[in-house]
Amino acid sequence: MNETMVKTPALRPSLGGFRWAGVETRAYKDEASAPYLGVTRQTLASDPRLAGELRYFEVQPSGYSTLERHEHMHAVMILRGEGRALVGDEVFAVGPHDLVTIAGWAWHQFRAGPGGPLGFLCLVDAERDRPRLPTRDDLEALRADPAIARFLDGDAP
Ligand code: MN
Repeated sequence: MNETMVKTPALRPSLGGFRWAGVETRAYKDEASAPYLGVTRQTLASDPRLAGELRYFEVQPSGYSTLERHEHMHAVMILRGEGRALVGDEVFAVGPHDLVTIAGWAWHQFRAGPGGPLGFLCLVDAERDRPRLPTRDDLEALRADPAIARFLDGDAP
């Protein structure tokens, strides 16, 4: 790797409000086909010298990330807000500084509560497989658990 090619500055200061200097706020996903509501993405660290990437996602009140799974893992730290997460066959409440580990091939989705945005850091492999969306059969199997069905419907716990 030619280090003179690498442009990442040593410091990208916080601008407050969960924004950082030199970091663009983008749509969560490029694919219009992946269902989600009210989610933005900021790539905080992505550098050829790193095997991982650090992203910050923000889900607007009552919004949700895509229900998906894939081979690669996620390590997540909630930074702001309250919400709920589905990981594998578990549904749980999340809030600031909770840590969430999403194992390979575990179904996962984050849903923000109504009171404010849910923001979280997500560490991921830089080289990774593409997320898979649930089939009708996958959804039926997930919905066999009433707690998961309520979560997927966005109902209060
Ligand atoms: Mn994912």
